[in-house]
Amino acid sequence: MTLPKIPLAGVIGSPIAHSKSPQLQGHWLKTYGISGYYIPMDVSVQDLETVVRSLPKMGFVGVNVTIPHKEAVMTIADLVTDRAILIGAANTLIFRKDGKIHADNTDGYGFIENLKAGAPNWNPRSGPAAILGAGGAARAVIASLLDAGVPEILLSNRTRVRADKLKSDFGSRIRVYDWVQAGNMLDHAHLVVNTTSLGMIGKSEMRVPLDGLQPGAVVTDLVYAPLKTRLLETAEQMGCVTVDGLGMLLHQAVPGFERWFGKRPEVDRATRAAALR
Ligand code: NAP
Repeated sequence: MTLPKIPLAGVIGSPIAHSKSPQLQGHWLKTYGISGYYIPMDVSVQDLETVVRSLPKMGFVGVNVTIPHKEAVMTIADLVTDRAILIGAANTLIFRKDGKIHADNTDGYGFIENLKAGAPNWNPRSGPAAILGAGGAARAVIASLLDAGVPEILLSNRTRVRADKLKSDFGSRIRVYDWVQAGNMLDHAHLVVNTTSLGMIGKSEMRVPLDGLQPGAVVTDLVYAPLKTRLLETAEQMGCVTVDGLGMLLHQAVPGFERWFGKRPEVDRATRAAALR
């Protein structure tokens, strides 16, 4: 009698100790009674390719990928999804039975699912979205918003050339504002998204003037430590609908878990509690 193989998955990055993914995925494995494991792995840039090519031979069915490997894994993968190419980064690898490595990016999916759950009345087609920041996370957010049908993206970043680059990559539905004018985007915005690291514990506070926020607008922050950033606190006081960033982290993990372990996990209160533990 041959015993079934125990599926292994994990997250590769460096550093990795801060990652919430092991708690989250471990919670789902336990909840659904799946005999698998999810392991954090600190992998150096020099070892990345050797490690990724070895993992399937050791019983791994896939891994999440975090900083600094999100771009480099795309050059190792045999297949890269269109959305990962558009975003320029992958966060999920699937090791297929035929030996091929498949790379995807689920950040945009996680972002939209979190908005749908936290602001169910938000209609992407209703009006412009204002985005603060033009880093890697902004690319995923913009790709998903354009895909959802947002008519216009107002974009501002401290380093203007990065925002201009996003405009040239994503096209005419993007309008770039200077960072000193970022506050001016808000009075037109039906959705406001902070994709910078401003407001995160240990980082600078956001100084963008927020008095233009419209009551009823949806405001979300990708920063989830603290859960309620000053942006969200102010937006709440001004009558906006606020959505914190933890849900994005939880939802982006769903497609990977489903592909690796064969069960679509639920994002519920217990999932949030597990990630916050
Ligand atoms: P990134 O590529 O390094 O981009 C960082 C962004 O923050 C850039 O736009 C940068 O502007 C801006 N920034 C940093 N310090 C600033 C300052 N002092 N003043 C003004 N702008 C500043 O990082 P990322 O991967 O996009 O991640 C951004 C944030 O999103 C992080 O806090 C990350 O933890 C969070 N995130 C959350 C999730 C989630 O699931 N909730 C997912 C992905 C990322 P410059 O271009 O001028 O440097």
